[in-house]
Amino acid sequence: MSARVLDGKAIALAVRQEVAVRISALVADGIQPGLAVVLVGSDPASQVYVRNKHKAAAQVGVTSFDHTLPADTSEQALLELVARLAADERVHGILVQLPLPDHVDATRVLDAIPPHKDVDGFHPDNIGRLAQGRPRFVAATPKGCMRLLAEAGIELAGTHAVVIGRSNIVGKPMAMLLTSAHATVTLCHSRTADVAAEVARADIVVAALGRARYVRGEWLKPGCVVIDVGMNRDDDGKLCGDVDFAAAAERAAAITPVPGGVGPMTIASLLDNVATAAELSRT
Ligand code: NAP
Repeated sequence: MSARVLDGKAIALAVRQEVAVRISALVADGIQPGLAVVLVGSDPASQVYVRNKHKAAAQVGVTSFDHTLPADTSEQALLELVARLAADERVHGILVQLPLPDHVDATRVLDAIPPHKDVDGFHPDNIGRLAQGRPRFVAATPKGCMRLLAEAGIELAGTHAVVIGRSNIVGKPMAMLLTSAHATVTLCHSRTADVAAEVARADIVVAALGRARYVRGEWLKPGCVVIDVGMNRDDDGKLCGDVDFAAAAERAAAITPVPGGVGPMTIASLLDNVATAAELSRT
């Protein structure tokens, strides 16, 4: 293996320490930052994510408010809860864990979160601001990827970046952030004619498509940087990314592992957003 492995765990720890300092300053000013986490139903993966978020919040001094609701909770009841949290001064950030059950219109619920408490960065107001290059809250996963690239000293200006996946929570904001950082960006999706050919031209590859080890090592331009957002289980139940790590590490200059790459950066970036939300409440 020749690639440098980008240690998301270590960088995330540094980000969390920074956030803890900001939280202490807020507490000294009489503001106790609060994060409300809403979970509907009992999807095991969502339960794990929510537990991890509560734990991480507690470690940096953020109070979390847990709202776990039964799977048959109506959309109306959920909207009423979001309205209560929106009005609650103890709550600086509101996070509704996705996916929501089919009978709930997730867009309506997410749109009901006030933009200044939207620490997930999913509200159209926050996405619009990001598109205009004046971000307030940026979705935690792409924000974490950008921080990782910055901490690793990867120069983005003038590079060609290929993002695979165009979801509103990862691929699209990632493409916007890379564009703002002066990369030239190609955004691939399931209808892209030849993903391998696009990847072959990339200095920076961000894989966020949700297919186990889909991106093959031999597709990569030698010396490129690979950010693997994917979190998949392979046929043996082993956690893996969207990139074939072993083969990719032979050609890339730098690569994130799964686990231990983008995942820890996502939680750290969420906490960073909560600190920002609490700081904004001062103004
Ligand atoms: P998503 O909403 O399912 O979106 C997947 C995207 O990939 C879509 O835009 C889809 O294209 C595209 N795609 C699917 N198959 C493709 C193919 N064969 N070639 C090219 N593009 C293809 O997924 P997501 O929420 O963005 O998540 C993506 C991955 O990141 C998942 O593995 C998820 O678990 C992981 N993730 C990790 C973290 C973390 O913290 N590490 C956070 C969030 C997500 P269409 O638009 O055409 O359908």
